[in-house]
Amino acid sequence: MSQKSILIIEDERSIAEPLAYSLEKDGYLVSIATDGQDGLRRAQSTLPDLILLDIMLPVMDGLEVCRQLRADSRTRHILILMLTAKSEEVDEVVGFSLGADDYVTKPFKIKPLTSRIKAMLRRPTDKNTSQDTVICREVEVDRMNHRVLVQGEEVGLTPTEFKLLWTLIRQAGRPFRRNELMDTARGEDANALERTIDVHIRSLRQKMGEAGDLVETVRGVGYRFKPE
Ligand code: CA
Repeated sequence: MSQKSILIIEDERSIAEPLAYSLEKDGYLVSIATDGQDGLRRAQSTLPDLILLDIMLPVMDGLEVCRQLRADSRTRHILILMLTAKSEEVDEVVGFSLGADDYVTKPFKIKPLTSRIKAMLRRPTDKNTSQDTVICREVEVDRMNHRVLVQGEEVGLTPTEFKLLWTLIRQAGRPFRRNELMDTARGEDANALERTIDVHIRSLRQKMGEAGDLVETVRGVGYRFKPE
């Protein structure tokens, strides 16, 4: 099994160091950057599997780091978990629209955070791996190349949005409950993510433009992709 790497971008050593220690103990390769610009540079050169990104950072803030990571094709698919202070609720939402995959609010406990990280890094085991491209209506999803085309135009999605769309479109017409979507999107750590699924769907729809209506809400159930 190849060792997964995690980059922590956080200027408070009292937060970064115990977290790094705990993640290293779990077998991850961990590095720490203490300002946004250094963090961005390291992310671009080392391409970690996941980034823990604080919002309030010296030199360049976490939102700008997130924006730049998502704008660059080399770093676009890296999982990003935002660290926010309690008073930064607005930033949490902004973080999602910028493409962060999840967030935790400070102060946080290390154990639940590391299990969430584990769940994010766990690839969902998928038995139907034979099919790698699905086309339904004006939407084409190419899983191998992590590419989504809406009316022929490429749409940049976060890893979580991509997994959600892939799950829905592959069985277009079938309604999925939120907890099913959470399972497919993230591995099995459903509890921590229940509140965030609607936010990801909202962001996915927004990015798909007019085709966003194809991701339908099924009342009392969850979501489905509108069938042909
Ligand atoms: Ca900070």
